[in-house]
Amino acid sequence: MATRSMASITRQAPDMVADDQDWRAEALCKNWDFKKKGDPWHPASESRIAAIEGKNLCGGCKVRFDCLIDAVQSDTRYGIRGGQTADERRRLRK
Ligand code: SF4
Repeated sequence: MATRSMASITRQAPDMVADDQDWRAEALCKNWDFKKKGDPWHPASESRIAAIEGKNLCGGCKVRFDCLIDAVQSDTRYGIRGGQTADERRRLRK
């Protein structure tokens, strides 16, 4: 995957980024049954195979850009957010 900066993401999709935190209400993972289904957003490792379920779920989440921007801006260092692993988000910050 090509590395893109957060500035380029927000420039290309400004209408997809909410102005406030209301996006959290639309989060696909909000109503996930973690007890029954486990936590695909925090796999045992961040290998491509381990992260694939969480990344795929994020791919179907309509607030993934808001989530990704929030994770990068808040420097969230663990888990998959907005379809990106922590390592991928670290590269976006550069
Ligand atoms: S993008 Fe992924 S982690 Fe973020 S709210 Fe959606 S499902 Fe949850």
